[in-house]
Amino acid sequence: MRQLWFRAAIERSRLLPPICPACLDVGVRPLDVPSRQPGSDPGVTAYYCDDCADRLEQRATRLMARRASQGVLGIGAATSAALVLGGARVPLQVLLTLLAATFPLVIAAWPGAVQAQPALLHLASDAVRHHWLARRKDFLQRLGADVAIEHAPVPRRRIIWDLLPALAALAWLSTLHWFGRAELRVLHSGDQDAVVLIDHRRRQTIAPTRTEHAYAAHAVSTLAGRRTLGIVGEEGTLLVDVTATLWPGRDYVLGTLPAGRCLFLERQEYGEEGSARDLVALPGAGPLWELPVNVDQWFAPLSPRPSLPTSGGIRTAVRLLPCR
Ligand SMILES: [Zn+2]
Repeated sequence: MRQLWFRAAIERSRLLPPICPACLDVGVRPLDVPSRQPGSDPGVTAYYCDDCADRLEQRATRLMARRASQGVLGIGAATSAALVLGGARVPLQVLLTLLAATFPLVIAAWPGAVQAQPALLHLASDAVRHHWLARRKDFLQRLGADVAIEHAPVPRRRIIWDLLPALAALAWLSTLHWFGRAELRVLHSGDQDAVVLIDHRRRQTIAPTRTEHAYAAHAVSTLAGRRTLGIVGEEGTLLVDVTATLWPGRDYVLGTLPAGRCLFLERQEYGEEGSARDLVALPGAGPLWELPVNVDQWFAPLSPRPSLPTSGGIRTAVRLLPCR
């Protein structure tokens, strides 16, 4: 990105006049002229009017406020988009996040918006002259100098800092999608295939389950939040329709169980933990069961011995067994 500036060389002996370089009003407040070359301080002051001097002095505060608002808007938009849309329309979620996080930048760059940046920069000095870069051509003309147009690059550091809140908001969106997921295992006990709906959107076709086996239920991952979960049969009959809050990182079973079968939670201790095994029925009548722990194995018995060498631990499995 480049900005339009005006360049002129003026004798060193000539003092800058008390004219505001930003608005050509009467200059009353001397401010140091920053140098384009890092580390070199020309030791010259320019006279700004009160308004422009105030704006320049508040620049750091305004910049901080703008970047903070970019971050807040971006993270707010990412969170709302993820909660409303869940795992669907991810490109739209990214777009909304980027738009919100860059909105304050658009306002700041809007034509007519007052730029709070120095209107005069020192470029270099030689034996007899100072070289100046000014935002206004007429300011340099008032000094009786020959003015040349210069397209100077915007300092790169500023662009990176401007984009940082948008990157932070995108990182937050990815974190929500990565860590904010709940895992569902969907079972259905009918005779024909059915379709799983999440927030009324089709997710997967599932085959009916009659007995327990390792592939008895279909894994469906979705973003946590308030979700409407449904299972629709072949003829369009709604077999399951439930709205519930899913928590990130939790495991759930959704669906209808085959006749005479119930869900159980199996625990097996290994090594130093002991060797106890227990099997307890999962409370609740469905169609949504929230599991109290993260499950290691689905719909298959746990081995009484660990499959890998281990000092000890507890493993859990969800089982689909005849009701007691
Ligand atoms: Zn001014």
